[in-house]
Amino acid sequence: MLVISLDGFPFALFQKQQSAGIWKQIGAAMPKASSTAMQSVIPTVSSVAWSTFMSGRNPGNHRIYGFIDRTLPDMSLTLPNASSRRGPSLQNTLNQHDIPVIMMNVPVTYPPEPINSVLVGGFLGVNPEKIAYPPEVSNYLAQNGYVIDADTSEAADKPFEFVDQLTDIVRRRCDAFKHLLKSYPWQYAHLHIMETDRLFHFLWKSVSEFESPLHSRIRHFFEILDSELFSVINSVNDSDEIILLSDHGFTESVIEWDINAWLAETGRLEWLSGDRKGLHRISPDSVAYSLIPGRIYLNLKGREVTGSVEPDQALKVCADLIRELASERLPDGINPVFTDIVHGSNIFSGPYSGAAPDLVAIPAKGVELKSRMDTGPIKRAPRMQGMHTFDDAMVVFRHGRFVSKKLKIIDMYSTILSFFGICDKDAEGTVIASWPFSSGG
Ligand SMILES: [Zn+2]
Repeated sequence: MLVISLDGFPFALFQKQQSAGIWKQIGAAMPKASSTAMQSVIPTVSSVAWSTFMSGRNPGNHRIYGFIDRTLPDMSLTLPNASSRRGPSLQNTLNQHDIPVIMMNVPVTYPPEPINSVLVGGFLGVNPEKIAYPPEVSNYLAQNGYVIDADTSEAADKPFEFVDQLTDIVRRRCDAFKHLLKSYPWQYAHLHIMETDRLFHFLWKSVSEFESPLHSRIRHFFEILDSELFSVINSVNDSDEIILLSDHGFTESVIEWDINAWLAETGRLEWLSGDRKGLHRISPDSVAYSLIPGRIYLNLKGREVTGSVEPDQALKVCADLIRELASERLPDGINPVFTDIVHGSNIFSGPYSGAAPDLVAIPAKGVELKSRMDTGPIKRAPRMQGMHTFDDAMVVFRHGRFVSKKLKIIDMYSTILSFFGICDKDAEGTVIASWPFSSGG
């Protein structure tokens, strides 16, 4: 089985681009493919989505709640990586059943753990010489100009150069992946393309508007991606299953809405002065604080080092927050900022649910939730053009057929295992596909 993941690729855009003649080669390689939209995870960020994909479990089990997380009780901030992740993973479960795996660039796989057969870590890795297991693969990648992630520092100012950079990275990644496919054993191979997410964050308007002056350069990027992926697909057998999927969708970012600024304005959060920004600067009188996107934590006595909210008051504080946040409106004065505000205990469960946010605010379309670690305005113009969406991830199977219409990324773990005849009875997702032939590589 070959899995190709395109970070943040919306199903709606995939269909629109197919109608516009992009993805011709992939279409020709998978003439009888089945495709559909898929739901992502809450919070809708790549670290959480891929940890959920990899484990078939919610963050209460794999312990990855966001791109950034807090460590208790001192409230230090960390960027969780593979060593923070807990519980089973797709690659480990397959290995336990003697199925060799090649995995390249999937988020939350850095630092790379020993594996049968190759693991190339993802975007939190910085040094190509330490990006892979076994180490000889790191050497190969370093010598062959492999690039872990795009340099986005000038993406907004030099968009043409940025698109060219992404195109170059995709070529190098696909070349390296084909080399691994030829050189190492595998029955499950997974190539992750992060460059789509990078492109959509910075240049979403030019991606979605075909008339934009940048559009032809961006179209070129997608055509190169199509032909590079086609050449990857060509290096596997016709009978091999291929899954093309994404972890969340994308839409235009219309406004930034800062939950910490709102908590400060409503008298619930106060920052102490100091040089370094961070949660350690929360005043002990604060009631709540937030981390992106939409995660709200009470400043709970006995849990947070600065805790002030008595545990028996927690439910009432949450109820007040939900009621007031639900009444917040966008600048049009009509539409709500949030579609829902949910209790963490309703969506997260497992041994690490103690690290879960107390509330999660789900934004309306186009509302990019922020949680700055300092004073500032609640609303402001977005600095990025695109933002993630929960509903519009995608899945394409070359041979498989969907047996369910409600797809979630948490289902992919059990679904992929079922292809190999493996069942993990503790997984939370369900098998959402069947194959017209018996299981195998
Ligand atoms: Zn993203």
